[in-house]
Amino acid sequence: MGRKLVAGNWKMNGTNADLKEIEALGIAWAAPRVDIVVCPPATLVSRMAFSLGGQPIRVGGQDCHATESGAHTGDISAEMLKDAGARYVITGHSERRADHGETDDMVRAKTEAAHKAGLTAIVCLGESLAQREAGETLDVVAGQLAASLPDGATAANTVVAYEPIWAIGTGKVPSTAQIGEVHGALRARLAERFGEDGNGIRLLYGGSVKPDNAAEIFAVENVDGALVGGASLKSTDFSPIISALE
Ligand code: PGA
Repeated sequence: MGRKLVAGNWKMNGTNADLKEIEALGIAWAAPRVDIVVCPPATLVSRMAFSLGGQPIRVGGQDCHATESGAHTGDISAEMLKDAGARYVITGHSERRADHGETDDMVRAKTEAAHKAGLTAIVCLGESLAQREAGETLDVVAGQLAASLPDGATAANTVVAYEPIWAIGTGKVPSTAQIGEVHGALRARLAERFGEDGNGIRLLYGGSVKPDNAAEIFAVENVDGALVGGASLKSTDFSPIISALE
């Protein structure tokens, strides 16, 4: 297993004025023992990467197109993110699956494009509340995992984030037993398909991770870090979450 990883997802938040948060983070984490990534809106990727300079915190995009270039108004390719200074990109976030009708096939194509550009993809999946209540969680996430990951996924180019949709931005968090059950099932599927590499693909939990619940979540087996939304916007919230993983 590589180093643990905390990724922040700023979603559609942040302007130049918020770069002060990344500067504060850079000062606080000059030599972290875990990997730290911040995914700002596309408008800030370049500025953020520039502000961080040679510091160890990495920058990521929140989405990429499945092709390299062409007539796709408003879209951004993985190559462009790489060129702007990104090392990571989130693919298949549930908000993109919902707002933009992204299917597992599309997510797999985007993930492949990310790999081709040399980016590490953070591939998101997770069940809805209705699916959880119907007892379908493990089937849903196994199906998403199988269909959203390309055959070329490795421990170096892929991270998987389990994010129950009902836990995102709601303050509701699954029990540690529920998180452990899903992460254990995902780990088994990854090992089955990718062998040794599958054991090394990092599994993040995401959905209402906060400074006060992070340590408990990080103690769960097969949780290799977190994908953090709201609590990644302010360095004073994000830093204690990173501390809990270190
Ligand atoms: P949240 O979002 O931490 O605000 O719940 C997590 C995510 O959507 O990645």
